[in-house]
Amino acid sequence: AGMTGSLLEIRGLEVVFDGFRAINGVDLTVGEGELRFLIGPNGAGKTTLIDVVTGLTRPAAGTVTFAGTELTGRKEHRIVRLGIGRTFQTSVVFEELTVVENLDLAAGFRRPLAALLRRRRGISETVATALDTIGLTGLADRPAGVLSHGQRQWLEIGMLIAQRPRLLLLDEPVAGMSKDERERTGELLTEIAKDHTVIVVEHDMEFLRRYASRVTVLHEGAVLVEGDVATVQSDPRVQEVYLGR
Ligand code: ADP
Repeated sequence: AGMTGSLLEIRGLEVVFDGFRAINGVDLTVGEGELRFLIGPNGAGKTTLIDVVTGLTRPAAGTVTFAGTELTGRKEHRIVRLGIGRTFQTSVVFEELTVVENLDLAAGFRRPLAALLRRRRGISETVATALDTIGLTGLADRPAGVLSHGQRQWLEIGMLIAQRPRLLLLDEPVAGMSKDERERTGELLTEIAKDHTVIVVEHDMEFLRRYASRVTVLHEGAVLVEGDVATVQSDPRVQEVYLGR
């Protein structure tokens, strides 16, 4: 069967804020299982694009289709249930709860109430898998408040995985991280992309060179260039608007 079919299809997207066109005719297709990087200068429309896909912002025109389902006009929680998870630039971790409790809470977010009520003690397989993927098994019972910045970012990614999405949207996951933490995060993204589709907003070019395959460059609300890292990097239009800042 068509294993590499498209999971997310955006067509003719336009977003207008008080007369300002933040997204101006974006077409974007992301295939199932892709690890796609989204770059572009400040104000290019990257966050707005994620906001539209996750139902936070309504487009003025265009369509967003996920696994054949039209998303436009659907509420955020319905979109989560269809299998789309995202991180925010602000933390959603509960500091007083342990790492496992945070993951458990996130996993329960998609669980029907009845299942929550008959929940047994101990950690579910979903939570155990998320814990292992983010490499925080050794800190499972520690309060999230003691985690380093990097560990907290990984926990947030783990909380997304625990919701078992098909598509993850990550907004600058390596921001503020040390070199080692970036490397660990790159490996984590590669690992996650084995059984999820992942879209990552990221600016760090060195990081892209190491971990990105396909890159989409946004500029002034439109797709400027799309291609593999080398192609995108050597494109004079990209150098002008992005690299040559
Ligand atoms: P990026 O994430 O690429 O930095 P954004 O998507 O945050 O860009 O913003 C795109 C443009 O839309 C920017 O010019 C920004 O100022 C504007 N914008 C974003 N959100 C709003 C809003 N809620 N109201 C008005 N303008 C907005």
